[in-house]
Amino acid sequence: RSKDAGGGAHHCYEPQLHADAEERRTLEIWLRTALEKGELHLAYQPVVMANDTRVVGFEALLRWTHPEKGVIPPYKFIPVAEEARLITPIGEWVLRTACMEAANWPADVRIAVNVSPEQLNDPNFVTSVVSALAHSGLSPSRLELEVTESVFLREGTRAIAVLDQILGLGIKLALDDFGTGYSSLGYLRKTQFSTIKVDRSFVQGAAKKSAESLAIIRAVVAMADSLGMTTTAEGAETEDEFQLIRELGCTKVQGYLFGRPMPAEDARELIATASRRRSAA
Ligand code: C2E
Ligand code: MG
Ligand code: MG
Ligand code: MG
Repeated sequence: RSKDAGGGAHHCYEPQLHADAEERRTLEIWLRTALEKGELHLAYQPVVMANDTRVVGFEALLRWTHPEKGVIPPYKFIPVAEEARLITPIGEWVLRTACMEAANWPADVRIAVNVSPEQLNDPNFVTSVVSALAHSGLSPSRLELEVTESVFLREGTRAIAVLDQILGLGIKLALDDFGTGYSSLGYLRKTQFSTIKVDRSFVQGAAKKSAESLAIIRAVVAMADSLGMTTTAEGAETEDEFQLIRELGCTKVQGYLFGRPMPAEDARELIATASRRRSAA
């Protein structure tokens, strides 16, 4: 299928592979100085209760604006940061910044922060979490760390030990992107998650009448329920998706329908407006 008839099949993909590797290398070089140059910031996406749409928290999401390249999306730079081990210093900054911001919010509004497997391997991880809390004055019970099933893959026992220390501090844990990773459920017996986040692909699938997606969400909700956990449905974009999620019994919802990831000032404004509306009601 190669344009160059005599060239052999590898001509089809090699230039693309090369371009990808090249792009990743460039991103890595830029990312090394992104933090000190102030190119990173956090966006906050609201999480609401499914029953009454009250805002109960925000997820902090990392954003990178390069002066020449513009906005570089997380799916491009997070893997690069993880591979280059830049996610540890960047992740520390995310934690400190998110805790500082959340300390301004009412006490019933939580902050969720994503944590990469690489960060759990950092011997200073727990110390850096303690220091982010101490420095911001945020109560540990208002912080939720989101990890994916992949943390249990390699050196799973170490991850369990670190997560135990985190739980010991009174911090909550959420299992992110549930259902997209590996299917061993054994770790659910070993680590006390407060919340299971049902991946957007199931939410959107269920809304498109996929019987499989529906069955999976039902099963996850039932399992979470009997394990004493709550569920958060990710990526609700439409009223139909939201109604379905509600009927299926998910506890919380996050998605464009209730708010896109937004600057800190807008998150504060959203909290203020919501609480004004509540006290008027
Ligand atoms: P995630 O933790 O699963 O975050 C949810 C993602 O879904 C976010 O993408 C969010 O913008 C997107 N989303 C939320 N609602 C909707 C919706 O209704 N429709 C659609 N289409 N998308 C929705 P984002 O911000 O691009 O982040 C992607 C991933 O990058 C995150 O997925 C997380 O795995 C990673 N990430 C982001 N910030 C951090 C961070 O500070 N540290 C680490 N380690 N990873 C991060
Ligand atoms: Mg997340
Ligand atoms: Mg997620
Ligand atoms: Mg996701």
